[in-house]
Amino acid sequence: MTRQRARTLALGALALLLVGFVLAQAFRDVTPPNVWTELEERHETGTPFKIFLSADEPVTYQVTYGEERRTAVAQDVTFEFMAAAGSSPLDVQATDGAGNVTMLTRIIQGVTLAEPTLTVQGGSLPGRAFTVLVSHEAGTIAEPTLRIDGRDAPLLTAPDGLYALGATPLTTEAGFLPLTLSWRDALDRDAARTSAVRYGELPTAVQELNIPASTLSVITPEGRERENAAIEAARADPYDPPRWSEPFLLPIEGRGTSGFAIPRRYAPGGPVSFHEGEDIAAPTGTPVAATNTGLVRIAGMYPIKGGMVILDHGAGVTSRYYHLSRILVSEGDEIDAGTILGEVGSTGLSTGPHLHWEIRVAGRPTNPLDWVGRVRP
Ligand SMILES: [Zn+2]
Repeated sequence: MTRQRARTLALGALALLLVGFVLAQAFRDVTPPNVWTELEERHETGTPFKIFLSADEPVTYQVTYGEERRTAVAQDVTFEFMAAAGSSPLDVQATDGAGNVTMLTRIIQGVTLAEPTLTVQGGSLPGRAFTVLVSHEAGTIAEPTLRIDGRDAPLLTAPDGLYALGATPLTTEAGFLPLTLSWRDALDRDAARTSAVRYGELPTAVQELNIPASTLSVITPEGRERENAAIEAARADPYDPPRWSEPFLLPIEGRGTSGFAIPRRYAPGGPVSFHEGEDIAAPTGTPVAATNTGLVRIAGMYPIKGGMVILDHGAGVTSRYYHLSRILVSEGDEIDAGTILGEVGSTGLSTGPHLHWEIRVAGRPTNPLDWVGRVRP
């Protein structure tokens, strides 16, 4: 080999190397991997959640969430973490074989779900008012609705939370009313909690009234119909806000003569009905005070109930006053607690001067004495 030839060969090799290097540079992978994620960003605190990662080439994944770090060499992978309270970043780093890195961050919201509790106050016997208190310590409950015995009950707002009013039915037997609270939770899911109002048996001794036939003659079908129509028309809307904020008052001082809920017969052998209010004996002319702030729905003379006033206190709560000798308010009046609305009498179906007093919730009679001195039952 001549020196000339050896030099040519060396130059050729060098050129090839150079071309190779240039080609290698041209085809070198400098593109970072494309990475896709599938992930719900809101989770209940303390529950596991998954992140699915997919890249367009095999990569080394390094995923960091709080103190925890997961690594894997794969193209597709799923990692699981435990959701922490509050919002914290989840960092993904994907490195391909050529050392190209893709980084992305997702913010995970750890949501504390509210666990509302239903507490029932009252309602332990038939014909009793009760309060359902809805309290929830943490988190929010959106669009809460309460059903009492399958019927929507308006939720009212008090400083200690939400509440609803209800009444157990006037019956002799023990039973219960199912309660269902429904709401949207902080993860926008439907949630529900159930409970019940349980009530015991009513003492069933039937009271025999022996009202004389002459007195009973005031009960004509027409009279009953006219009264019922008036009372029906005056029905309180349970979705009205409460008009009262102070405790209920006893409308008169007097001697209780016939307790609430006692089953009774008006005449021997007659049908048994429940006494839907409290009778308080007092002389004719005794002033009768409004048990609480309310709107006068009915003020007039009727054949059975005699002088009748019905007050609408809002929230579906009404109070009724029967057998009045005089009525001192007019329908449509808004009156304060303690306002004298009439005077005791013995008008209508009555055997002597007394006040028949009722408090109803959503039309159901409740023991009025349970309300005295209280803002709610
Ligand atoms: Zn009565």
